[in-house]
Amino acid sequence: MSDIGEKDIFRRVFERSARAAAVVDRDGCIHLSNSGFQRMIPGSLLPQSILEILKMRRTFQISAEQEHARFLIIDPGTGRNQPATLTHLSGEPGGKNFFLLEFHSHFEETRLEEALQESEQRFCQLQQNLPVGIYRANRDGDLETVNDTLLRMTGYDSFSELQMAELGDVWADVRERDNLIRRLREEGAVLGYTVHLKRQDGSEFIGSFDARGNFDKEGNLVYFDTIVQDITEKVRAQEELERLATSDSLTGLANRQHLMKRLEYELKRAERYDTPLTLLMIDLDNFKQINDTRGHQAGDVVLRGFAGLVGRILREIDHAGRYGGEEFCVVLPETDLEGGIVIAERIRESVENHAFSGPGEVSFHVTCSIGVVHAESADMDELISTADRRLYEAKRSGRNRVVPNRVEELKS
Ligand code: GH3
Ligand code: MG
Ligand code: MG
Repeated sequence: MSDIGEKDIFRRVFERSARAAAVVDRDGCIHLSNSGFQRMIPGSLLPQSILEILKMRRTFQISAEQEHARFLIIDPGTGRNQPATLTHLSGEPGGKNFFLLEFHSHFEETRLEEALQESEQRFCQLQQNLPVGIYRANRDGDLETVNDTLLRMTGYDSFSELQMAELGDVWADVRERDNLIRRLREEGAVLGYTVHLKRQDGSEFIGSFDARGNFDKEGNLVYFDTIVQDITEKVRAQEELERLATSDSLTGLANRQHLMKRLEYELKRAERYDTPLTLLMIDLDNFKQINDTRGHQAGDVVLRGFAGLVGRILREIDHAGRYGGEEFCVVLPETDLEGGIVIAERIRESVENHAFSGPGEVSFHVTCSIGVVHAESADMDELISTADRRLYEAKRSGRNRVVPNRVEELKS
């Protein structure tokens, strides 16, 4: 082996040693040190003699008498006792003797541990202060940790209180929780999952969950982390926007555009499942006269009152909408012509019998005319124009009446 090779190998082994190592002389003067040693004792603190910080001059000197000695030193980095070795490297009689001092320092480990602890602490703080709720749950959905925001969101004073609460007191529908866990097992992560939750005081709020599962090597769910956001206000605002976009502001009924969409959908459904559907076209009688004699406000009162009367007569599955000025349209799914005539008669009668009263005025009566038509196909325009024709007939034949599809028209 060449000289350079031997030196080189020594330096590399020395440098890469997992231990703190230094080449020192008999007086403890440091002639060479590796990076592990330097990290432990910053260069600026390096004394002339290592013995000054190791405070072990006697032990060192006794050990230096041997070829290879083991002894305990106080680790300058941590203050803990550490086993050290001293190996005699070279020596000329009367000349300098060199020793390799090595010991395993826990300094680096301690530093890492502290850094880890600090970062964990910071993470914990961050998690607590985030404006979103956070929780970790085991494979069965049992809570393991929660942050303060989630406690505030749910109104619980402590984690243990929330942990001990009945499932039904936290989840408005416990199946939503089971479904979340099932989806996590199948999909790994579930984003934007909307759930209905209960606060400690029993009030409800809507949460949006972003959850991610953690799995073992076999792919079994071990635990999952979830971010919870209270989206109640957002959902309400969305609902309100939707309501504004789909309803008529005066009567609160569906607006024409929305009603036509419903009709289109119901016609397709009726055709597919071969169920009947009946449409009513309703127009208030002599409405212009009400506006002219009692004022526009009285006219508005009638329009709103009419909507209320219709609403009380219809079933949940029916749709009523304002088609135009004082013209209304009612979609009756799963209703044949006879059924439609009954509903139309009820509406006509309840309007006729209702006493409307305008602002600061004596009450008055209003009537309406209704065209009734049973859908024979999914052709929406055809259905509406037939209903319009029946309505026109009702007007022509004296108003305040219900005119259904003619029998011969149904047969054709
Ligand atoms: P008919 O029995 O033939 O239906 O007679 P009508 O007077 O009801 O018919 P017409 O179509 O001539 O008049 C409808 C009136 O409805 C005209 C319009 O001023 C009134 N109208 C439409 N929209 C509103 C509304 O939002 N508020 C009020 N107060 N009146 C309205
Ligand atoms: Mg009218
Ligand atoms: Mg009209």
